[in-house]
Amino acid sequence: MTVFSHPEFDEHVQVAYCCDSDSGLKAIIAIHNLNRGPSLGGCRMWNYASDEEALTDVLRLSRGMTYKSALADLPYGGGKSVIIGDSKKIKSEALFRAMGRFVESLGGRYIVAEDVGISVPDVETMARETAHVAGTTKGGAGDPSPATAYGVYMGIRAAVKHRLGRDTLDGVVVAVQGVGHVGYHLCRYLAGDGAKLVVTDIDQAPVQRVVEELGAEAVAPQEIHRAASDVYAPCALGGVINDRTIDELSASIVAGSANNQLAEPRHGVALMERGILYAPDYLINAGGVIHISYEAKPGLRSYDKPAAIKHVARIHDTLLEIFERAEKAGVPTSEAADRLAEARFKKDCVRAAA
Ligand code: NAD
Repeated sequence: MTVFSHPEFDEHVQVAYCCDSDSGLKAIIAIHNLNRGPSLGGCRMWNYASDEEALTDVLRLSRGMTYKSALADLPYGGGKSVIIGDSKKIKSEALFRAMGRFVESLGGRYIVAEDVGISVPDVETMARETAHVAGTTKGGAGDPSPATAYGVYMGIRAAVKHRLGRDTLDGVVVAVQGVGHVGYHLCRYLAGDGAKLVVTDIDQAPVQRVVEELGAEAVAPQEIHRAASDVYAPCALGGVINDRTIDELSASIVAGSANNQLAEPRHGVALMERGILYAPDYLINAGGVIHISYEAKPGLRSYDKPAAIKHVARIHDTLLEIFERAEKAGVPTSEAADRLAEARFKKDCVRAAA
């Protein structure tokens, strides 16, 4: 398996393979870019079909974190880690302590947090071996999902203002795909602002909750992207904007929390050609990483919640800026976002700003 010629390799600074035979840990840590500061990104635990699949995921995810932190104006670079294995079967204290020691061995170039398959207590076990962790209850920030949802809500407001010329969400119909951690909190923000909710999930209990609490209308999972709506908010899986769904979209805005919503970059062009406004995923879903960046640092400061909320709210104005740049340049919003992020993390630009 090669790294330098891998299709997802993009001048990553470091890729570390980590093995601890005592605990059964097999992990890869990828650091994409350090120009803005130490790399920050979650650790994902997944039962990958092959080492190759794990490498592909960690290369892609770490690169995404560089772009996310740059657009959110955070003093961090991009990194991510993956632990190979079934999170329901192989979790142990020894495994997470071993992972913590590998994070520590990188000397602060990578700061670990939670991601799919990893919970706050798992990160806290790693923290027994390393100070380079974020998103623990000790740091004060805890679960990032409500902050992510708030950022998505502010992003939807920006998109509605830009596309529909409306300053509130009163009567705006939002189709939310996936009402888990982020989706549920998003629905609460939306309903509080007068939006009408159409929701779905593959799990019935969370759907029932938003139907009963917020008066949402439920539809089948395969119907959500074509349900009559103004905004389609993917909050479950990636790849939902693809050759099959794109012609069936009912909404004129796509804005949700899911990572990697475009199956391929060309789908950003296809959305633009259909006149659908797309809020780039790594920009609108940055609330969580912004939130944990404000948590307490040992001996430095305590978690600053008001500052974190204020920073998350800036997603609104950054999105408006991206929409305007995209229109001016005649490019998809996804491309305009990439260009602005690159201008903020490429070496020459960081030096010029210093
Ligand atoms: P979650 O697992 O709590 O919720 C996802 C929900 O989607 C679950 O209820 C699940 O049953 C549902 N789902 C799965 N497949 C579905 C399908 N085909 N159709 C409908 N529903 C389906 O996850 P989350 O933390 O709420 O994250 C949601 C998305 O947002 C993910 O893509 C995640 O990567 C992204 N994200 C989350 C955060 C965060 O702070 N949690 C931050 C950035 C991005």
